[in-house]
Amino acid sequence: MEDIYVIGHRNPDTDSVISAIAAAKTMGYKAAVSGDINAETAFVLSKFGVEAPEKVIDLSGKKVFLVDHNENTQMADGWESAEIVGILDHHRINFSSSAPVFFHVEPLGSTCSILAKTFMDGIKNDSVLAGLLLAGILSDTVIFKSPTATDEDKLIAAELAAAAGIADIEAFGLEIKKAGADISGMTAADIVGKDFKDFDMSGKKVGIGQIELPDLSIMEEMESAVIARLDELKEQGYELVMIALTDIIKEGSKLIFSGDPSIIEKAFGKAPEKNSVYVDGMMSRKKQIVPPLEEEFKNR
Ligand code: MN
Ligand code: MN
Repeated sequence: MEDIYVIGHRNPDTDSVISAIAAAKTMGYKAAVSGDINAETAFVLSKFGVEAPEKVIDLSGKKVFLVDHNENTQMADGWESAEIVGILDHHRINFSSSAPVFFHVEPLGSTCSILAKTFMDGIKNDSVLAGLLLAGILSDTVIFKSPTATDEDKLIAAELAAAAGIADIEAFGLEIKKAGADISGMTAADIVGKDFKDFDMSGKKVGIGQIELPDLSIMEEMESAVIARLDELKEQGYELVMIALTDIIKEGSKLIFSGDPSIIEKAFGKAPEKNSVYVDGMMSRKKQIVPPLEEEFKNR
C-alpha cells in the first residue's frame, strides 16, 4: 500500500512534530517533517531517545494527512498536487476541498491533546509516547499559561504524566521551554524565522513570528537587527510582518513589526512606540494576535 505521510506545518514546532509521530504510530501512517527541527523539539526527542521523522519538503503527488494546521499558507511545498486524506488540528478553519476528507478540529491547547484523548487507552501502555505527547501539550500551551489551554488539556496531561512516570509536570515544562529559549548563535533572521507563519487576511499577506523567552532583555541588543529583517521581509510582498517576543515568566508579549502602525494600534488598543508595543497578558498568536488583526484588516 502506498505510504500516507503525516506532516505538520512549515517551520515545525514541537506540537507539529510530536503529533505527526503519534498519529503515525497510532494510525499506521508514516511520520514526516516539512523543515528543520527546532532546539526545543530536538531536546524533547533526545530526552525520549526518539529519532526525528523523515524530512519531506515536497508533498507533490503524495498522500498526506495534515496535523496541526489546515491553511494553505502553512502547508509544505507541493500541497497543490498532494492528495490530502485527513486533517487533525486545533487552529481556525481556513480549508476547502473538492473531495470529502477526514477533518477533525477541536479547540484544545494542542494537536497532541486531541491525539492523546482519542488514543488514550493504547498510549497508557506506551511511556515514551505518553511522555512525548505530554511535551507537545506543555510546549503548545506554554505550560498551561496560554489562554488556549483548557481544563481538558490539564486532565489529559495528568493522565499522560502518570503513564510516562513524570512526577513534576511544571518542572518538565520549564525544562522543555528552557531548551527552546536558547538563542545563542542565532541571527535576527533565525529568530524571526524560527516559528513564522503566513496568513491571508482579507487578501493581504501577513507574516507573524513568535519566540518564547524567560526574559526579554536578552533580545534588546538585537532589536534593530530584528526590525531590519522584518523590513526586508515586508519588501518581499507582505502588508505587515511582525514577531511576538513572548515573556513566559511575566506573561506578556512585545510585538515588533514592520508595517502601518495604525493597524497595530487599532487591533491591540495600544499605540506603538516606533516599531514595537508591549501587550500585557498576550501569550497566544492564535487566540490573541491573529483574530484582532484579521478583524482590523476586514474593516479597512
Ligand atoms: Mn504548531
Ligand atoms: Mn499546535
